[in-house]
Amino acid sequence: MAFINENYLKLSPHYLFPEIARRVQAYRVKNHDAKIISLGLGDVTQPLVSSVVEAMKGAVEGMADEEGFHGYGPHRGYDFLADAIIEKDYNGRGVDLSREEIFISDGAKCDVTNIQEIFGSDNIVAVTDPWFPLYVDSNVMAGRTGGRRENGHYEGIVYLPCRPENHFIPRLPQKKVDMIYLCFPNNPTGAVASKEDLKTWVDYAKENRSIIIFDAAYVAYIQDPDIPHSIYEIEGAKGVAIEIRSYSKTAGFTGLRCGFSVVPKQLKAYQKDGKHVQVNPIWYRRHTTKFNGASYISQVGASAIYTDVGNKQTRAVIQFYLNNAAFIRQELTRLGYTVYGGIHAPYIWMKTPGGLSSWQFFDLLLERANVVGTPGVGFGPSGEGYFRLSTFATRENVEEAMIRLASM
Ligand code: PLP
Repeated sequence: MAFINENYLKLSPHYLFPEIARRVQAYRVKNHDAKIISLGLGDVTQPLVSSVVEAMKGAVEGMADEEGFHGYGPHRGYDFLADAIIEKDYNGRGVDLSREEIFISDGAKCDVTNIQEIFGSDNIVAVTDPWFPLYVDSNVMAGRTGGRRENGHYEGIVYLPCRPENHFIPRLPQKKVDMIYLCFPNNPTGAVASKEDLKTWVDYAKENRSIIIFDAAYVAYIQDPDIPHSIYEIEGAKGVAIEIRSYSKTAGFTGLRCGFSVVPKQLKAYQKDGKHVQVNPIWYRRHTTKFNGASYISQVGASAIYTDVGNKQTRAVIQFYLNNAAFIRQELTRLGYTVYGGIHAPYIWMKTPGGLSSWQFFDLLLERANVVGTPGVGFGPSGEGYFRLSTFATRENVEEAMIRLASM
């Protein structure tokens, strides 16, 4: 008899986005002519920039002859991309890394969900609330939690509320935790953490021998050089943190797939007898067994964004989304809404009006304005009463959506 992994049965059957799709579809069936504008999904809408496309065309053509053909690549990724990452993403911010500390992957989702696998199953996990669903679900699947409560929390996980009162920056937990998921700039709140905020967490992790999994998928949206771009800008972070990045929102790679994780050589975890082990070779061992490398063509495409032209082009696309964000912020504020985020992130986190619940506001917006957003409660109970608007849309749609909101 083949037994199932019963941890999967603890998962919520309704993942947020399918439920949104279901409600939109139900509305469409009754309202065929409705011109629905989606500011709901976190998927980019602008095409790839030409330097990425040209680089990939060259790589594809190269694959057609013996010299340019690439079969299985290095498990950690190609040196040409790792070197560009080290120089352009890290050295410029005062962070030194070696090639062996970079693990190029097919995107942040796999890294964020797989990384927990190399840590003990008894570890206590802490996540912010609201949270990006992958952090919790991957730990539920791995058996680090008990059952799901009515409010969407799982037994055994420590939730760190992020609300306006704490500027959406989690306070340290009362209870000792072992694995901490932090995401800045944050999805969904759009909040960013200062050096002091991150230092508090790095110090906590050092003191408690915990590990921070730092999701920096939106780092490219940070506008202020004083805001840390990497957790390794904080002294001592290399001993306690893994950083995960993605080209999805940086350069429109959601369909192409490429990202990377940094696992510093100094990073330690512990055996039951208290002896420490280096995490880097363990992640490498896992990587070589379960992953055969990111596509050569994607890696060539990703390396193109580090050229001067590629950088300029990708920055222009990010600015396009940030201009959308600024416009939405301005219009919603003018209409009397309370808004957060959208300055160093592509997401606006707005308070629902008149005490409406997140789903009530979702339905109202869909029916009265034919605009789709994401109910905040879908990211956790602390997101109740909030609503996420994504700025990944055409300018025309963003402007039209705001006109419709104004006349609701
Ligand atoms: N981390 C965060 C915070 C995200 O919002 C996303 C995607 O929306 C990911 C990770 C996954 O990104 P990728 O496309 O690289 O898998």
